[in-house]
Amino acid sequence: MAITDSTAQSLVLRHANLCTPTATSHVHIHDASVAIVEGRIAWLGEERQLPARYRELPEHDCDGRLLTPGLIDCHTHLVFAGSRAQEFSQLLHGAEYADIAASGGGIMTTVNATRAASEEDLLESALRRVDDMLACGVTSLEIKSGYGLTLEHELKLLRVIQQIRAQRPVRIRATLLALHKLPPEFEDADSYVTYVCDELLPAVIKADLADAVDAFCDQIAFSRDQVERLFVAARAAGLPLKLHAEQLSNQRGSELAVAYQALSVDHLEYLEADGIAALAASDTVAVMLPCAFYTLRETRLPPVTRLLAQGVPVAVASDCNPGTAPMTSLLLAMNMACTLFRMTPLQALAGTTLHAAQALGIGAETGSIEVGKSADLACWDLSRPEELAYLVGVNRLHRRYYAGQHEHLLHKQH
Ligand SMILES: [Zn+2]
Repeated sequence: MAITDSTAQSLVLRHANLCTPTATSHVHIHDASVAIVEGRIAWLGEERQLPARYRELPEHDCDGRLLTPGLIDCHTHLVFAGSRAQEFSQLLHGAEYADIAASGGGIMTTVNATRAASEEDLLESALRRVDDMLACGVTSLEIKSGYGLTLEHELKLLRVIQQIRAQRPVRIRATLLALHKLPPEFEDADSYVTYVCDELLPAVIKADLADAVDAFCDQIAFSRDQVERLFVAARAAGLPLKLHAEQLSNQRGSELAVAYQALSVDHLEYLEADGIAALAASDTVAVMLPCAFYTLRETRLPPVTRLLAQGVPVAVASDCNPGTAPMTSLLLAMNMACTLFRMTPLQALAGTTLHAAQALGIGAETGSIEVGKSADLACWDLSRPEELAYLVGVNRLHRRYYAGQHEHLLHKQH
């Protein structure tokens, strides 16, 4: 990535068409200023009301461009090796995802390639994906492990995530996803869960490499009881929880996750009334992953409308992974959330900013344009916020600000 302009973290953005989600709705100021002091938002409001003290700061004239919070991709698996293009062809010719997984393909294809890859190679390929994301206005990003499935290889993935954090201007949350798939070294899932709870998780905690713990609760992955054993161990260590739930069947994982105050439950195509009620009575975020739905050509829709009607915060993420979501564009995920799941463009924007921040436990720091938060912003060559989700495969990012540091992302170098 070419960063051609990164200077002081105190500046004022002027003449912005500002749109930010709030807890209850949206704030839209057509001719706005945002004052940034030492990387934090110090003031925002109508341009004509900008206090004199901020008029001294270096300024960026947004010239009427759209200004939103920086985007947050709250669910990715972007550190991996290999390709699943062959599996894509199988899916197109009628194979079922569960059958591919049962015959040793699917996630295991990526596990084998990732175990064989060096840390350097994993970092290089992951940085390409991260750079794609930054070029789409992403300022915070979650990255899961889960393609190692042994202590040695899960630590390798988590170290790569640490290196990404050190090398790119983006806030990163690392999530341990050891319960992604039963690895071939274990005959039964219960003994693998014991290994994860007793050996793998404590070692990861000791190395301080994970900000949260996730699991895949499904017939082709881990049962509710097995996930609960992990949740008990992780919660005892003070780690926040997340869950892949109700993607291919209803295992009532969401209800379990809510009982353990999880940050989010993700996928939810098979979520039913009890799960919706549990989420509505909790602070757990429902994360929509429309690219996986699209790639698997699913027909069963997650109950987005009912979740929204009950006041559940709904986030949208790319799910970037080599099998079911080989994409890096959160903008395209927003478009899919609207076209496939009937979210409105403004709901999709809230889902990739405010609610995505909540899904990562970083809502006090970022996710909206509010005084006191980090100046994580995206300036777009667009005139309306709805255009972010309306355009299909089009990226009109003008400038990205991360904690007030700004970049022109006009071209990338690989
Ligand atoms: Zn996932």
